[in-house]
Amino acid sequence: MNMTPRVLILGGTTEARGLAARLVGGEFGVVSSLAGRVASPRLPAGEVRIGGFGGATGLASWIGSHGIRAVIDATHPFAAAISWNAAAAAAASHVPLLALRRTAWVRGVGDLWHETASLEDAALMLPDLGRRHFLTIGRQGVSSFAEVRDAWFLVRAVDPPEAPTPPRMKLLLDRGPYVPEAEIALMHAHQVDTVVTKNSGGQATAAKLTAARALGLPVVMVQRPATPGGVLEVTDVGSAVEWANAQVRGGRSSR
Ligand code: NAP
Repeated sequence: MNMTPRVLILGGTTEARGLAARLVGGEFGVVSSLAGRVASPRLPAGEVRIGGFGGATGLASWIGSHGIRAVIDATHPFAAAISWNAAAAAAASHVPLLALRRTAWVRGVGDLWHETASLEDAALMLPDLGRRHFLTIGRQGVSSFAEVRDAWFLVRAVDPPEAPTPPRMKLLLDRGPYVPEAEIALMHAHQVDTVVTKNSGGQATAAKLTAARALGLPVVMVQRPATPGGVLEVTDVGSAVEWANAQVRGGRSSR
C-alpha cells in the first residue's frame, strides 16, 4: 500500500497544538492524537484522532497501519504512561521518536517551595503548612486530597474532578493562561495559605508561582515523574519542526 508519510503527534498540550499548526500543510501528513480526557478539548490544526491506543502494543500496531514515519511525544510532562508506551512502541516499530517537553520550573529567590515526589506525599504535607489550600493540579489526582484533615480547598480545573473529592472545597472551572495580578486577587479573595501544583513548567500557568512569591505563600511542588531513557528530547516547538522535517526527508532519500 502506498501511503503518504505521516508524523504522529501525541498531544494534549499547548506545545502540541503549536507544533501541529507549524507542520500541517507541509510536505507530509500530520495526525494529532488526544486521550479524550477533556470534554471540550482545544483541538489542534489538521487531522485529529481521539482515544487510547490500547497500550504500547496497540500504539505500535496503529503506527504500522497508518503510515507513520516519525512520532513526537508532545504530551504533558505528567502524562507518564503514554510517554513510556511511545518509547516502547517506537522501538518495536523501528520508527524515530522525539520528546517535546517544556522546561521544568526552577525555584527562584523568594520562593517557598516544598518539593515532593507525589500527590500523596503532597497531601501528607498540607496539615503542617496551612488550612486553606489552592489545588491547581488539574482534574486528575484531586482524590489524593480527599482525606486531608481540617482543610478547605479551592480546586481549579478544566473539568470537574471525579469522586472522592475533599468534603470542603470550592470548584473553579477555568483554563489558562493566567496573569499574576488576577492570581494574587484570587488567592487573596479566598484567603488561601498554601498553593499545591505539579511542576508542569511553561508560561501559561506560571503566574500562580509569581503570585505565591508576592504573597509569601508556601508552594507544594510535585516533581515530574520519570521519563524513558534514550529518547531524544527538545524543549521548543521550532526544534521539533526541524526534527520532523529531517526525519521524513531522510526516510525519502534512503528509499
Ligand atoms: P497517561 O497517564 O500518560 O496515559 C494514560 C493512558 O491514556 C495511556 O496509556 C493512553 O491509553 C491514553 N493516552 C494518554 N495520552 C494520549 C494521547 N495523547 N493520545 C492517545 N491516548 C493517550 O496520561 P494522562 O496523564 O491521563 O493525560 C492524558 C492526556 O492529557 C495526555 O495526552 C496529556 O498530554 C494531557 N494532559 C495531561 C495532564 C496531566 O497533568 N497528566 C495535564 C494536561 C494535559 P492507551 O494505553 O489505551 O493507549
